[in-house]
Amino acid sequence: MTTTVTTTVTTTAAAVQPYSLFRVEVVRTQRISPSMLRVTFGGPDLKLCTSAGHDQRIKLFFPLPGQTDPIVPEGPDWFGEFRAMPDNVRPPIRTFTISGLRTDARELDVDFVLHGDLGPASRWAGSARPGDRIAILAPDARHPEILGYEYKPTEDSDWTLLAGDETALPAITQILSVMPADRQAVVFLEVASAQEMRPLDCPAGVHVTWLCRGGAPAGGGVLKEAIARTEFPAGRPYAWLAGESSAVVELRRHLVRERGLDKKDVYFSGYWLLGGAIE
Ligand SMILES: Cc1cc2nc3c(=O)[nH]c(=O)nc-3n(C[C@H](O)[C@H](O)[C@H](O)COP(=O)(O)OP(=O)(O)OC[C@H]3O[C@@H](n4cnc5c(N)ncnc54)[C@H](O)[C@@H]3O)c2cc1C
Repeated sequence: MTTTVTTTVTTTAAAVQPYSLFRVEVVRTQRISPSMLRVTFGGPDLKLCTSAGHDQRIKLFFPLPGQTDPIVPEGPDWFGEFRAMPDNVRPPIRTFTISGLRTDARELDVDFVLHGDLGPASRWAGSARPGDRIAILAPDARHPEILGYEYKPTEDSDWTLLAGDETALPAITQILSVMPADRQAVVFLEVASAQEMRPLDCPAGVHVTWLCRGGAPAGGGVLKEAIARTEFPAGRPYAWLAGESSAVVELRRHLVRERGLDKKDVYFSGYWLLGGAIE
């Protein structure tokens, strides 16, 4: 009697994390309005980057003064490693939105609000030149699920309310560009001046209102005041709000308490904090 023994060798590929670190360099910059700079990053690994296509958030790691490259955590627990780094090594990190991703060309765009020299991101962007290097934590196309986006309209909602300041303009632009053609939406965008306004690619049923601060500081109540004066379309809304933290919290409070929106129909996010920093 002959016995056949079959041996099976199983190789397990290392699990791909939802986010990977991409080392990139500036390919070009373009001033798209007085306070907004588009930085196009390039890097061979960007062929493995992906995006949900709308409010896709990413983390940018900037070099410390005197460095050409930021020192970045490389392991799967990047945040734990990042926290454990000594202060004089840990790179400044800030959150941004993918404004454009062209994997064939290995290019990714980020639109930076230039708000002065106070923060590491705005300071870096203000002097960015081709060849400057940073690192970006962004979704990895090899992972089965894309994480890091929040625009998820409630299924039985009838219309969308989008409201934000200039830091939310990249996300709102992306959301509108992929919005179904028959979706009704009301959009409020707060910007510093009329020169920041630009045409938006959106369905016919979208009504956009630009609100210019006209010299008033960012992070005031401009959005809430305008929305409080607005009569809403009929039906159940889904609201997406982003901008200065306290302004967004106030706006959400108005929508829930005074306009009767259900809390679960309102997504809100403090994109920046007046007088503080959010990593
Ligand atoms: C999910 C998400 C997506 C985002 N996407 C974008 C994006 O695509 N483009 C973009 O420009 N920003 C975006 N932001 C906001 C950005 O992360 C913050 O503005 C961040 O504070 C900028 O970092 P900084 O180093 O320039 O300033 P920080 O060091 O964080 O702050 C320094 C000082 O600058 C002030 N400050 C920060 N931002 C502004 C501002 N916009 N206007 C006026 N004063 C400010 C702070 O109040 C503080 O006093 C996003 C934030 C989140 C959470």
